[in-house]
Amino acid sequence: MTQPALAAVAPTTPPLAEAILDTLIHRIGKDAQAALPHDWLAATILTVRNDIIERWMASSKQAHAAGAKRVYYLSLEFLIGRLLRDAMANLSRTDEVREALASLGVNLADLEGEEPDAALGNGGLGRLAACFMESLASLDLPAYGYGIRYVNGMFRQRIDNGWQVELPETWLRHGNPWEFERRESNYRIGFGGEVVGDENGDIHWMPDESVEAVAVDTPVIGWRGARVNTLRLWTARARDPIRLDRFNAGDHEGALAASVRADTLVRVLYPADSTPAGQELRLRQEYFFSSASIQDIVRRHVQYFGDIRTLPDKAAIQLNDTHPAVSVAELMRILVDDHALDFDGAWEITRATFGYTNHTLLPEALESWPLPLFERLLPRHMQLVYAINAKILREARAQGQDDGAIAAISLIDEGGERRVRMANLAFAGSHSVNGVAALHTDLMKQTVFADLHRLYPDRINNKTNGITPRRWLFESNPGLTSLIREAIGDAFLDDATKLADLKPFAADAAFREKFEAVKRANKVRLSQHLREVMGVRLDPDAMFDVQVKRIHEYKRQLLNILETVALYDQIRSNPDKDWTPRVKLFAGKAASSYHNAKLIIKLANDVARRINADPAVRGLLRVAFVPNYNVSLAELIMPAADLSEQISTAGMEASGTGNMKLALNGALTIGTLDGANVEIRDHVGADDIVIFGLTAEEVAEKRAAGYNPREAIAASRELQQALSAIKGGVFSHDDPGRYAGLIDGLENSDWFLCCADFDSYAQAQRQVDARWTDRAGWNASAIRNVGGVGWFSSDRTIGEYARDIWKVM
Ligand SMILES: *Cc1c(COP(=O)(O)O)cnc(C)c1O
Repeated sequence: MTQPALAAVAPTTPPLAEAILDTLIHRIGKDAQAALPHDWLAATILTVRNDIIERWMASSKQAHAAGAKRVYYLSLEFLIGRLLRDAMANLSRTDEVREALASLGVNLADLEGEEPDAALGNGGLGRLAACFMESLASLDLPAYGYGIRYVNGMFRQRIDNGWQVELPETWLRHGNPWEFERRESNYRIGFGGEVVGDENGDIHWMPDESVEAVAVDTPVIGWRGARVNTLRLWTARARDPIRLDRFNAGDHEGALAASVRADTLVRVLYPADSTPAGQELRLRQEYFFSSASIQDIVRRHVQYFGDIRTLPDKAAIQLNDTHPAVSVAELMRILVDDHALDFDGAWEITRATFGYTNHTLLPEALESWPLPLFERLLPRHMQLVYAINAKILREARAQGQDDGAIAAISLIDEGGERRVRMANLAFAGSHSVNGVAALHTDLMKQTVFADLHRLYPDRINNKTNGITPRRWLFESNPGLTSLIREAIGDAFLDDATKLADLKPFAADAAFREKFEAVKRANKVRLSQHLREVMGVRLDPDAMFDVQVKRIHEYKRQLLNILETVALYDQIRSNPDKDWTPRVKLFAGKAASSYHNAKLIIKLANDVARRINADPAVRGLLRVAFVPNYNVSLAELIMPAADLSEQISTAGMEASGTGNMKLALNGALTIGTLDGANVEIRDHVGADDIVIFGLTAEEVAEKRAAGYNPREAIAASRELQQALSAIKGGVFSHDDPGRYAGLIDGLENSDWFLCCADFDSYAQAQRQVDARWTDRAGWNASAIRNVGGVGWFSSDRTIGEYARDIWKVM
């Protein structure tokens, strides 16, 4: 037989198109006529995935053959977003796929929009985990991410009459073509029961309940396909899915109770950002995924290397905040009970294997569990926690620490109801404890961990967060990426610090104009989207001023709203002044139980409705609250932003990463000296960032001195007017008292110092207005921001973890 006959059938169909069509027919079971958009999407993903599988296997084989040390990143959250565009871009196949689909009459951009946004995380902490996974693969480091495959991830946010409404996100509705269920990789996870000793003195934990954890793997592709790592998410299955005896006796639901309990474990992501859920189910989730991951790591190590005692040479386990901290006790249990190591030997191995990353110093966010709950659910781990505690308290006493320090170091909080402190467990059980920005790391040493730091002075170190430039520049902002390539060549594609070569172009008038044109096109794109989804009309020539992040009092959306109200008042009082046209964009979700955060969302919407409808404003100020902030929306907003609001109370934002994404896309920052803002200022230069407000030190002093917001209010006419307008119901005619409580809180306590920082913030905003008027100056500043923040690539961050903590580079 000869080949030409085939080619004659479809002379112009590229081979990739044939492959997609073949997948559509044979894997999805639809032909081109019957296929719905999600069918085309699945066929495209499965076809692209084929290319990944071989690299994936090659990556594993190579790591195995080299006897390489592996990195294990344990995180209860992975905010990965859509994967198709990322996969195509990292494999350099985007154009090829676009053309193949076009030859089949399918538009790639439409398909990309069909892909569900995998939101297995709340905010920055989960997105960091996703950026880290991508950088690990890009740096060719063998790594696994471990987490939970939530059936419903982060809730979908709808705004109904200005109020947040939470709806379940059904991202698995059409299945997930990226994942592979590994039924053979399953582990038994026990809960409850009792601990018994046998005649040999060996300890046995006899759980009275158990479920099976089953691995579901998703490939993570590095830049230029460098390597493919695995994101292994655990799902739960009942060990006895159906009790036939009960079923046959007529108890149909009772027969399935174990299945329902297993499903419940992986059903929802707790929608709380920086406050612990405080639920038994949450502790069960934490132990479930920690135990499955540690069992998997130990199994792999013993299988490859034989001797459990070499674990720290071949495995580095990073705990993303305290959510996986029970892993410390779980590894101890496995080493002592299953591998018969003595306690001290096991402790040495454990500490050498773990590293812990702290993400918050907010007291309400430091996880601790009521001791009776911990003991009931994990009786063997409770014993081990006591034994670990005895050991570290002995060390502290030997060092001469006083009773106050001993109480602070203890793994058990003895003040009031006794609780197990997960941060102390993670700290004690790790050889490295890192903060996520320089200021945050300093504060760790001075505050929450001061006594532990004195006991183990070499343990705390800093690793300032980063973001992957692939997703947050190349993929989300192709216009700017092309422009940068024209100007400075391609070196920055592989080394983001090379973006520094862009800085001299700030002085080039022709380049500035092209830069502004790219920004404007991104603003038009966002405006079109917002017109479609929420019917709002925005002027792309106005300044796009954005505050997009979780809604939290410490992030101070309220300060921004107060200033917006004050500006509105001024525009109405001085209609003839040459006001800078502004669009104020807010987006973000509030934890469902967080009353004030939800009220702030309502306030933003109420203020938007009033201002946008007031003809006196003449379009000089527009306010919009964009619903359902997620990774995909962030990818649209970041490239279109002119001004980045990073205005948290100094000392309260551990790092922030939204600040980095916005600067990388050429937004100027207005911000406090908090988190990574401090280092952003160092990298872009003090002239290209607008800093205002109290420093972390001043905040601490003010609070210690008994801060009274009424003094700040008395000193500011603008603030008085804004507060009384909101309190008096100007924005809530339907319910004039709606915001009385919120404003009372500001007037009487104002823990987050909105009032203290108001004047400084308002002045900074007027300085921003003046800068905007000087278009050349503004664009030059924006260009220097892009050129200045290459250091915030997560490749740099991961390089530091790899060298200093994991010792794999
Ligand atoms: C980057 C990002 C965050 C974190 O934003 P911060 O401003 O650092 O709090 C939260 N959510 C999403 C969807 C993000 O992409």
